[in-house]
Amino acid sequence: MSYDTDNIFAKILRGEIPCHKVYEDDDAIVFMDVMPQAPGHALVVPKAASRNIFDADPTTLAALAPLVQKIARAAVAAFEADGVTILQFNEPAGGQTVFHLHIHVIPRHDDSPLRSHSGKMEDPEVLAANADKLRQAIHA
Ligand code: 5GP
Repeated sequence: MSYDTDNIFAKILRGEIPCHKVYEDDDAIVFMDVMPQAPGHALVVPKAASRNIFDADPTTLAALAPLVQKIARAAVAAFEADGVTILQFNEPAGGQTVFHLHIHVIPRHDDSPLRSHSGKMEDPEVLAANADKLRQAIHA
């Protein structure tokens, strides 16, 4: 399986389509998932092109972990979460639907089940408000 440069996250990285961005550095971007499995669901996306964990450079993978930790901590603060679920899918059989490596960071609350993966599109105003909350917590 090869990397398709026209996948939706590659287009977001090139600025060709919009996203609710919460963080960016030289190596990665973080934005809100448009079909959140819980309020505040964010995606950590390395800029380096890889389809998923199988073809990713190990240095890309290593650099992701501290950023995922930063976003997870910010998510707890921003959404008063009781926990955070980290997800990462590989190939269709593994549940992957967008073929540019990314990690899901999903704030969780006690007794609140996850909504379905790639389920319902969220209202853009809600996504913008949640992006603001997460951005503020990242920079607090
Ligand atoms: P995967 O199944 O590949 O792990 O996850 C892809 C995620 O991207 C899904 O959770 C889906 O809701 C989200 N998604 C799909 N299209 C878009 C989009 O155009 N913009 C954003 N921000 N998220 C998207």
